[in-house]
Parts: sequence; C-alpha cells; structure tokens
Amino acid sequence: MKQYAGYDLHTHSTASDGALAPAALVRAAYEAGVRQLALTDHDTLAGLDEAAREASGYEDMQFYPGVELTCIWRGRVIHLLGVGIDPQAPVFVDYMKELRCLRAARAEKIAERLVKKGLPDILEAARKIAGSGQIGRPHFAQALIDKGVVTTAQQAFDLWLGAGKAGDVKAEWPSLEEAVHLVKSASGYALVAHPTKYNMTFTRLRELMDAVIQAGGDGLEVSYPGVTPNHLRDLLNLADRKSLLVSAGSDFHSPAQRWTALGRFSAFTSSRHLLSCL
Ligand code: AMP
Ligand code: MN
Ligand code: MN
Ligand code: MN
Repeated sequence: MKQYAGYDLHTHSTASDGALAPAALVRAAYEAGVRQLALTDHDTLAGLDEAAREASGYEDMQFYPGVELTCIWRGRVIHLLGVGIDPQAPVFVDYMKELRCLRAARAEKIAERLVKKGLPDILEAARKIAGSGQIGRPHFAQALIDKGVVTTAQQAFDLWLGAGKAGDVKAEWPSLEEAVHLVKSASGYALVAHPTKYNMTFTRLRELMDAVIQAGGDGLEVSYPGVTPNHLRDLLNLADRKSLLVSAGSDFHSPAQRWTALGRFSAFTSSRHLLSCL
C-alpha cells in the first residue's frame, strides 16, 4: 500500500479566510515539504490562478485547483471539497458569481444581527479585512477583536458567531446534491471535509455518505487536525465499506494558528487515496 508524505489537499488563502496570499501559501507549503498541494478556499476560485502560477515555478511541486463549498444537507451546513477541478468550467464560474452575492448579502445580515444585540456596526470593518476575498465569519471575528469587543477569534465564535449565536447566519447555500454536481461538472473529485466536525453520530455520517454517493460524489477526508486515532480508523473503515476515496489535509488558515501547519496531519495508508487518482 502506498504511503504518501509531503502533501496537503485542504488549505486556505486570502481569497477566502486564510492569512497568506495564494503565492505566499504555495511558498510556505513548499518550504514545509509539501510537494502535492490543493488550494481549497471557501466558495471561491479567485486564488487558483495565482497559486498555480507560483507552483509552476517549482519543478517538483504538483498543484491541484480546489474549492471548499458550503452546502446544506438535512438542514445542516456541510463543507464539500472539490479537488482537481477545472477552474474554467463555465457552470462553476457562473455559480461562483452567485456565491459572491450570497456571501455579500449574508455579511449584511450578520452585521445587522450583531447591531440588534447591541454591538457596534462592524460591516465596513469586516469588508475591509476580507478585502477582495470571499467574506465570512472569520473576518467578523477579526473585526470584533479590532473593536475590542472580544480578545480572540475563539471568543468571537463562542459568544457571537458560532453555531446558534446571533451572527450564525445561514445563507441560501446550495444543497449537498447541487454542490456535488457542481464539482463533478468541473471534472473534480467531491469529498466531505472534516466529517467528524459536524456533531453527527456515525450513523448519521453513514447516511450523509450515502447521500454523497447517490449524488455522484467520491469520498471523504479521514485525516486532519483534531481527528483522533479512533476516528481515523473508523473513517477509513467507512470508506472501505462504501468504496469511497479518502483524502487528508491541514485545513491551514494562518501561521498564527498553532494547531495547524501545512502538510501536518496524522499519517495513514490506504489503497483508496485520492492522490492515486489525481
Ligand atoms: P463561514 O464560511 O463564514 O461560515 O465561516 C466558517 C469559518 O469560520 C470556518 O471555515 C473556520 O475557518 C472559521 N471558524 C469556525 N469556527 C471557528 C471557531 N470556533 N474559532 C475560529 N474560527 C472558526
Ligand atoms: Mn475557514
Ligand atoms: Mn471547513
Ligand atoms: Mn477548510
């Protein structure tokens, strides 16, 4: 069974809520020993050209265009990775424009809800932090820190932005099925990101994977920061039983987040690895 090392198939840049620009991310990944890299920003392809250009400067580095789509399954928000996509696929390009509007409108709603709770209006501040990138709750978290409302992003999520809090605004995200179709129409592999992070039982997770299979999707992540050895084993078993592809990545956002580093996650071996298909 092939053992892979020096790869990372789940990362973020300033095109969404990451701290490093796409080219800087590629450089940092290369320096960390990553030789097979996917950039998977939230709901945008905007960083892919820059990252691909930078990666082409390294002879021994393989770059895979990717995306992390926010979608809904049975009322829950699920993150679906599209890896090895064609960034020029017309349906995808059109849909990304829609997602930009969706996230912009959601940002207004988040700001409004926080104001209703007596917080300062941080819409402009959050927009500024997001810059040209796809705006999300982490930008609001930073704005709340800058305004002195909270001291850490964790606190911002715990009090104001996390599940069930005022700033936890669900947009009209696509359904899981639509998200899978989008990825497939762009010739990518569709995989459920960080499956143990949705507060789901394994029974529910198996149902989610059945829905992914039904929709034509490919697999799930099995190794990422926070996954326990037991989870890793259970996820690998689930993939075997359902003939799914498995993937892994650091979900890197920022060098300031000590619990994520590029290319760092528990090692495992599998004959069903996405890397053997890319
Ligand atoms: P959004 O895409 O706007 O729904 O924001 C989700 C993003 O917020 C995730 O991709 C993480 O980067 C970040 N996030 C979620 N929960 C937390 C948390 N508790 N602390 C810090 N960042 C978080
Ligand atoms: Mn994120
Ligand atoms: Mn995610
Ligand atoms: Mn991610």
